[in-house]
Amino acid sequence: MGANSKGSLAERRSGVRVSVMATRDDDHPPDGPCSGTLTFILLVFILGTFAGLASAQCSQDLPTSASLIAARVAVANGDPDVALSPGGCMRYQRSFNLLFPRVPVLTKEEVKLGGQTVVAWDHVALPTAWPGPARSFSTGRLDADQDGFDEWRARIDREVTSPAVIGSLIAPRRERSTISISEYDPAAQVLATRRTYIFPDDGTMQVTLEEGAGTLSVVSQYSASSIIEAGHTSWPDPLEIINIQLVNPVPCPSSLTTEVMSRLVDAAANGGSCLRSSAMYAEAASLAHTVASREFRVVCENMNPNRKAGIQYDAAIDPQRPIVIYIDLADWNVATPKGRESILFHEMLHTLGWDHIVGFKTPPVPDTAWREMDRVSACNSLCYNPSPTRCECAQCRGSNNCGTCATYLPCASDKLGAYCPCQGHERWFESATECRETCSSNLACHATQCVNQPANACKP
Ligand SMILES: [Zn+2]
Repeated sequence: MGANSKGSLAERRSGVRVSVMATRDDDHPPDGPCSGTLTFILLVFILGTFAGLASAQCSQDLPTSASLIAARVAVANGDPDVALSPGGCMRYQRSFNLLFPRVPVLTKEEVKLGGQTVVAWDHVALPTAWPGPARSFSTGRLDADQDGFDEWRARIDREVTSPAVIGSLIAPRRERSTISISEYDPAAQVLATRRTYIFPDDGTMQVTLEEGAGTLSVVSQYSASSIIEAGHTSWPDPLEIINIQLVNPVPCPSSLTTEVMSRLVDAAANGGSCLRSSAMYAEAASLAHTVASREFRVVCENMNPNRKAGIQYDAAIDPQRPIVIYIDLADWNVATPKGRESILFHEMLHTLGWDHIVGFKTPPVPDTAWREMDRVSACNSLCYNPSPTRCECAQCRGSNNCGTCATYLPCASDKLGAYCPCQGHERWFESATECRETCSSNLACHATQCVNQPANACKP
């Protein structure tokens, strides 16, 4: 399949490389009137050797479950500079506004790998006139391949209304947000996709998907549940329904929250190590940051077979909010410890602002085909399925090149399908031509354009 991800619905990693991180002063050799060329070359050589040694050591220094648990304790204790990996190569650093020392306000978060920033968030509170809503925004960026450019950039705008008594009625606290995630083509360094989510705080989200190469145009707009499920986490389970709302919360067993936390830490360590072996440095660092620094709330439900777990998507992306995870006890209780870790790894991938490709649910796409199209499911399979395919590998990496993915099993399908999004006639086709012809032959759908399955570097 074509190397270019233009027009792809996939949540391809791409990224505008906009001037990244601030301080890289240590990259510059000192200059002065006496510094001759030889000294300069020597200095560059020595610095380069040290940098090489450091990065070689850092490539071995991966976060472990133990180092992440220790980091979580240090973060809770307020430490502004916390080692995430045992040797301290991966660090989480925070800055606070100490205008009111008793209530330090978090203004900046960074995850550094060998001194280089790969994940960064800036948090800004806007002036508020009481009793108006409190407004704030955050901007985030990830340097996915650790090359000094940010491929992933997010902006989160929030508006929080405090509970208020109006007459005899109590108005609830409302937390509305708009989240926009822009991703840039890593090679061409041009904007490739933007997903904008409006969360009105009513259990839904309005999604606008734009694609292009530098200039974007809207390719899809839809409304969906703001709880994203994890149905597609195991193999060879049949496809399960996505985007259903919570229907049946039940009390959680007493030990569940503790176990969920420890499986989350394992998922960040083991799944993170898997992502790093695919050169997804920032994604791995972001998962480590998430388990070390975020508050987790667990809601239990009993709704098998609809989903294994779910996550409140707006809160998942927003580093200033607690993560809410829904656990389906019917499934959880029969899952192995590794299976539980896999389910939670899937949920953690949603914290990267990766949702699921939509519209491929009626009628069900074969699960194997789904996993080769959907980035979360692809990475879940690559890292936890004992027999992932090369198409899952390429989809997970967001790679334009099959490369070392070719060592995995052949793709489940060599075809690129398409989806007819016509309301009431939604359907997935194994071939784009068939979709185009069948979809538009329906009178109600004559103006509907098929959404082609994302490019996959490992498909012919
Ligand atoms: Zn999911």
